[in-house]
Amino acid sequence: MRESFRRNGRKPKIPPSSVVFLRKKDRARDLTLQGREMARIEIDTQKCKGCGFCVNFCPRNLIQLDSHFNNKGYHPAVFKGQEKCTGCAICALMCPEVAITVYK
Ligand code: SF4
Ligand code: SF4
Repeated sequence: MRESFRRNGRKPKIPPSSVVFLRKKDRARDLTLQGREMARIEIDTQKCKGCGFCVNFCPRNLIQLDSHFNNKGYHPAVFKGQEKCTGCAICALMCPEVAITVYK
């Protein structure tokens, strides 16, 4: 799997708006809300076209396709594992619609 990320010997490019580094005070607030400090993602379900790339490539299997339809008529991806996300951003890297934002 890793080889496919380095096609042509180049490092993959994550869209710059897809990863948000939280400030210390925001991290502290997340810590209070969730009990522990973990990364999380947000998926724009209306941008999602249900291709399933993020589902297949998340190393922790934290993303699933929903049974409901979005406005475009696709089954959008939904995040199911807030307490296990490492913030690796592979999902954001794979998303062709730039629909995933990673907070870490
Ligand atoms: S950031 Fe990594 S661990 Fe978290 S949902 Fe995306 S691919 Fe999975
Ligand atoms: S990779 Fe992007 S477009 Fe494809 S299912 Fe995941 S969020 Fe939707």
